[in-house]
Amino acid sequence: MSPRPVAYDLHVHTEFSPDSTTPLESYAQSADEHSIHLGFCDHFELAFMERHDYLNHDRLGQLFERYDQVHSLYPQTSLSLEIDYYSDLASEVAEFCDTYRKDLDYLIGVVHTVDRHAVTTPEEMAQLASRLTLATILERYFHEVEAAISSNLFDGLAHIDGVMRYVPLYPASSDLEAYWQERTLQLGLLCRKHGVLVEVNLRGLRHPWKRTHPAEHIITELAKEGVQFYVGSDSHCLRDFQDSIPLLIKTHRILNEHVCFQLPPFRRSTG
Ligand SMILES: [Zn+2]
Ligand SMILES: [Zn+2]
Repeated sequence: MSPRPVAYDLHVHTEFSPDSTTPLESYAQSADEHSIHLGFCDHFELAFMERHDYLNHDRLGQLFERYDQVHSLYPQTSLSLEIDYYSDLASEVAEFCDTYRKDLDYLIGVVHTVDRHAVTTPEEMAQLASRLTLATILERYFHEVEAAISSNLFDGLAHIDGVMRYVPLYPASSDLEAYWQERTLQLGLLCRKHGVLVEVNLRGLRHPWKRTHPAEHIITELAKEGVQFYVGSDSHCLRDFQDSIPLLIKTHRILNEHVCFQLPPFRRSTG
């Protein structure tokens, strides 16, 4: 592999996430063949730590051990977690981040839930939508993302408008376009204020949303304001990652044209 990667994919899920079975090695080998730096970013959900298959303190130890083996073979890899933020558990999330900061290259914050229901799964989004208006769901989600950014715990924020993933399935969705745009721009500016990188998450293209998170025109607007980005395919299997490669490279080209690509710190890898 050439010393300078052609792209950085800082968001892939491995068998240490409940929704993936892919070993770290499989991604690392494939990424190496394509000269791509690979960032492992498994889910850490403090509110669901007791659930089978979710990362807990024991499994984190196993992940660190496995990562070190893989990283010694494939140095163009880094280790992070996609850490769910809950404002009602703010001090517990902060304690977790402080405990593990030295073990991770960078910390990625995220919001997946509203009232502990995942807006990123169609079933749980439907449950939410049966008792709340879409506008309320969006408002609560964006409010929680604001809290995550303002917590100053994270180096980057994943899919800041991830709530939009299944919104196009709902009849009133087009009424929310202006609100989504305004709030996403505000979140980007809040990231700049707190020195947090915004992820360009490619996975939205696979869902009814059919756009990246955030969408390309929002990236362009935010880049003009000095907001900095990194890229994540949010792959959950090897095929996802391999299919994302052309888009990963294209997205890096776009970010470089806008001079808004920035890498997070690599704390663990550089000691
Ligand atoms: Zn996510
Ligand atoms: Zn993810």
